[in-house]
Amino acid sequence: MKKMEQIYEGKAKKVFATDDPTLVLVSYKDDATAFNGEKRGTIVGKGAINNRVTNHLMQILEKEGVPTHFVEELSDRETVVKKVSIVPLEVIIRNISAGSFAKRFGVEEGIVFAEPTIEFSYKNDELGDPLMNAYHAVALGCATWEEIDTIKAMAFKVNDVLKAFFKAVNVDLVDFKLEFGRTPDGTIVLADEISPDTCRFWDSTTHEKLDKDRFRRDLGGVEDAYSEMMRRIMGIG
Ligand code: ADP
Ligand code: UDP
Repeated sequence: MKKMEQIYEGKAKKVFATDDPTLVLVSYKDDATAFNGEKRGTIVGKGAINNRVTNHLMQILEKEGVPTHFVEELSDRETVVKKVSIVPLEVIIRNISAGSFAKRFGVEEGIVFAEPTIEFSYKNDELGDPLMNAYHAVALGCATWEEIDTIKAMAFKVNDVLKAFFKAVNVDLVDFKLEFGRTPDGTIVLADEISPDTCRFWDSTTHEKLDKDRFRRDLGGVEDAYSEMMRRIMGIG
């Protein structure tokens, strides 16, 4: 497998073509952004942590029957994944109120829901990723009803697996964002990343935040929180 030209540079990762047209290489950066790119910074070591954490969690999910884009970790920051056509939806699962949910509905953070919730937003930076319901997604051709059903079922399955996994390392999985893609034969697979950038993690005992909210809210200890999550997830770092 040969790394070829860069095909995309996003806020947190670069994507490179490979000599296999069905595969791409993703390279994780230390760059951090928040509030739709308004706040920018660097979290030293983040790229390597998010790469390794994502791959570890994707492999656990595969074993539990969730198809993912993961193929092979090449180095600290670089991973080969199946090239997919990304469904332009950010799929957000919430177990506990926080962030934009708490703000939108005027409630405090920390309400533990009896059942997880799901929401979609339209993956479009220019529009600020607006909230979107399934009818909107189908109307705009983002996905078919069959794909929406598959994505919902997969997202709740991911939540079941990860909630239990994190509970075992004394972390509450508050909420997280997933992205899904279509392989050339139309199969929906879990894509992108699962990391402290894309999940809210609270220590179950102290409720200390161990995720990107430390960067968003200028709480300090950002690098330490990312390292602590890698240690709990992988037993290293
Ligand atoms: P953003 O585009 O939001 O700034 P990133 O910096 O994480 O995000 O860039 C990575 C890009 O790669 C995202 O647009 C993501 O949707 C896309 N992507 C993730 N997994 C795959 C994949 N398996 N195949 C193709 N594109 C992918
Ligand atoms: N999230 C993400 N990317 C986004 C928006 C949200 O990874 O573009 C994650 C975020 O880290 C959190 C969850 O999705 O774990 C829910 O985020 P929320 O809607 O509360 O938005 P935020 O407070 O981040 O603006």
